[in-house]
Amino acid sequence: MLLNARPTIFEDECLSSYLYRLAYANAHASGNVYARKLGMTVSNINNNEFSEQAVKTLSEMTCYPPPELKKHTAIQQEKRSKEESPLRRRMRFCPLCLGENRYHRSAWNLNWNTVCLKHGIMLKDKCECGRITSLHSVMINGCLSCGKALIRETAKKG
Ligand SMILES: [Zn+2]
Ligand SMILES: [Zn+2]
Repeated sequence: MLLNARPTIFEDECLSSYLYRLAYANAHASGNVYARKLGMTVSNINNNEFSEQAVKTLSEMTCYPPPELKKHTAIQQEKRSKEESPLRRRMRFCPLCLGENRYHRSAWNLNWNTVCLKHGIMLKDKCECGRITSLHSVMINGCLSCGKALIRETAKKG
């Protein structure tokens, strides 16, 4: 079933983030609304773990060919770097990158990536109150415990 609104996926975006933006574009509150259709758990979505079948279904919803979508999943990233488990245990994010454009970058999923190279700051994985962040809380820009904003707008330079 093809979705009415189909935003363009960013080259460096993880597929879960795209799922959230698809949901927003189609007037849903969270990417998790597609969990059952894709045969995924909320945890799968948070960890960017899409099965072949989930990729195929998402392809039918978006018109993106499966190989194109697969490039944005954790499975693909794992294949690319075998040395050690490359995937993070927690969802990390750069508050400044998100302030510029609100989507989750694939690079933040890699364990050895602890710093945002663009902004030179440590990636975050929790709110100031200590609550661990999820993709959902980052995308809605609000900690699920204290409600504080997780994204920082940057002052534009001339
Ligand atoms: Zn950044
Ligand atoms: Zn908080």
